[in-house]
Amino acid sequence: MTGRSLFAALLIAGAGSLHLAAPRTAHAELAPSLTAPAPTDLLALDDSLLGFSGKLRARFLPPVDAVELERALDAMRRAAPDVATARPGVAALTVVSMVPFEAKVSGRMGLYRMGFWPGEMRTSRSAAYDNPPGFIQVTQANQNLQLSEHFRLRDFLTKDQFTVWPKYVVLRESLIDKLELVIAELNVMGHRVGHVQVMSGSRHPFYNQQGVGKGGRADDSRHQYGDASDIFVDNDRDGNMDDLDGDRRITVRDAEPIIEAVRRVELAHPELIGGMGRYHATDAHGPFVHVDVRGTPARWGGA
Ligand SMILES: [Zn+2]
Repeated sequence: MTGRSLFAALLIAGAGSLHLAAPRTAHAELAPSLTAPAPTDLLALDDSLLGFSGKLRARFLPPVDAVELERALDAMRRAAPDVATARPGVAALTVVSMVPFEAKVSGRMGLYRMGFWPGEMRTSRSAAYDNPPGFIQVTQANQNLQLSEHFRLRDFLTKDQFTVWPKYVVLRESLIDKLELVIAELNVMGHRVGHVQVMSGSRHPFYNQQGVGKGGRADDSRHQYGDASDIFVDNDRDGNMDDLDGDRRITVRDAEPIIEAVRRVELAHPELIGGMGRYHATDAHGPFVHVDVRGTPARWGGA
């Protein structure tokens, strides 16, 4: 996708460009154009870049598109300060260039072991199960990067190989966007939500396979595709679900408001439809809700 067509897509598709911006095809064959962005391109950088929620603070793109967007943002900040002032959220966006999936060698990126995606070993059953387009490199310096109003890059890391840097994560912008919309909807519903804990975000196959069969972890888990997260509301940050239903006990009933919020968000934004599962507390964890943006509806666990 060239610069102009990227901007055209952003303008025409609005927030839907979140999905267009994660194309299935490699971009290696396209060289970035060397022409400066035209004024119309700058005007095309509208608020849809911030997602349906308006709360995205970073965009992750294939290298060619990342270069184009960064160049346009630079031009907007320098040459069109009035536009930048009018759109502070867009002007402040961080652009993250993804490392192509093909850079993974023998199941590793550098010292970081990730294993093999199902699509590397057999024909994927649908586009949603194709290998992810690329990885975000996570360093000790950028791990606290704010991806949106409520979420940081480190929130979505696979919980393993703690001493290995850099790490790599597969993550979809539309998941972050959906989680922000869920928080906004919970607040509309009267639940004051300042913090949602991501208990499990991205899980690369090497880690995911260690738990297959245990706790419902599936070998085709959406967590491997960066579009799933297991979440609970944790305003007091005690590591457990908050008492959302006000019965002074932490039970699976506290997951119900989250489930209702996800239903409302999917009704309003069919582009963000996906799976949802309700989980009871065990010895290992409190109640939580699985939310993903796989593109087709799926429900389990009474959700
Ligand atoms: Zn899950």
